[in-house]
Amino acid sequence: MISVVIPAYNEEENIPILYEKLKKVLDNLGEDYEIIFVDDGSTDRTPQILEDIAKKDKKVKVIRFRRNFGQTAAIYAGFEHAEGDIIITMDADLQNDPEDIPRLLEKIREGYDIVSGWRKDRKDPFLSRKLPSMIANWIISKVTGVELHDYGCTLKAYRKEIAKRYRLYGDMHRFLPALAKRFGAKITEIPVKHHPRLYGKSKYGIDRTIRVILDIFLVKFLNEYITRPLYVFGGVGFILFFLGFIFGLYLTVLKIFFGQDIGGRPLLILSVLLILSGIQLISTGIIAELIVRTYYESRGEKPYIIEKKINFGEVKEDGGNS
Ligand code: UDP
Ligand code: MG
Repeated sequence: MISVVIPAYNEEENIPILYEKLKKVLDNLGEDYEIIFVDDGSTDRTPQILEDIAKKDKKVKVIRFRRNFGQTAAIYAGFEHAEGDIIITMDADLQNDPEDIPRLLEKIREGYDIVSGWRKDRKDPFLSRKLPSMIANWIISKVTGVELHDYGCTLKAYRKEIAKRYRLYGDMHRFLPALAKRFGAKITEIPVKHHPRLYGKSKYGIDRTIRVILDIFLVKFLNEYITRPLYVFGGVGFILFFLGFIFGLYLTVLKIFFGQDIGGRPLLILSVLLILSGIQLISTGIIAELIVRTYYESRGEKPYIIEKKINFGEVKEDGGNS
């Protein structure tokens, strides 16, 4: 079964057109499917329109938020409720094209866990949208090691284990490919069509770029150091402490054996500073370590994913959570 998850915030003109197009594509696949619209607290006629569609078509499911919680929250809710083995996300504003869906599915069937759309010919303003996005994509690719041209494209296909594995906060949905890499997900991208927005307004401006950049740091940390924060903090802390200790020792030797006055030496202040910050960082590392353990244990999550087990009584593929 295939689930299509669509976050929608004030998209009254777009939804009926999108629904018709999407239905045509999905019916042609000859597979079971569901369309999950997540109405992110719309204040226009979106809720009524969705209800009308859902009344006529039982494959259409609607989740309505009490207020606007943002696109990531909407996608997360859609993932939680999706029943399909493959989950596709797309925008409600007709900028993504449902006709790309069969090609995304083809790639998943080739064995990929995530197939990301790449709006090769993106129809958005250059200065405020395309340029910042090019820069952001380049940085994210370099920092995370997952090279994609278009992290921001909502049109993506995920295997359910990957989509359902993460709790998504803030603006994090776009980073799923980067996060999933840590667990050995196979990721690829294909060029997809992109259309200018005809109805309704874009909900984002240039300020999103800053949030995205900040998220990169978080993703880097989550990806590479989440299971060993003590090594990061403690490692730096140890070096600082060690330097401070050497300086302090040197000054002590001068004082005791050579009777020099060390009270006014800048090196003394530096030494104290290094020792203190070293201790601080090591303790931060230990605290972070405890938090990380609580994090994994409270979620019942293992720091690994098993692809297959053989001769354990049953052969199964799983997401590591069971
Ligand atoms: N969206 C949402 N909640 C929000 C903002 C946006 O569900 O708070 C939806 C919106 O309805 C659309 C998608 O997220 O389906 C992408 O939004 P938009 O088209 O404004 O972003 P852009 O394409 O301009 O980056
Ligand atoms: Mg859009």
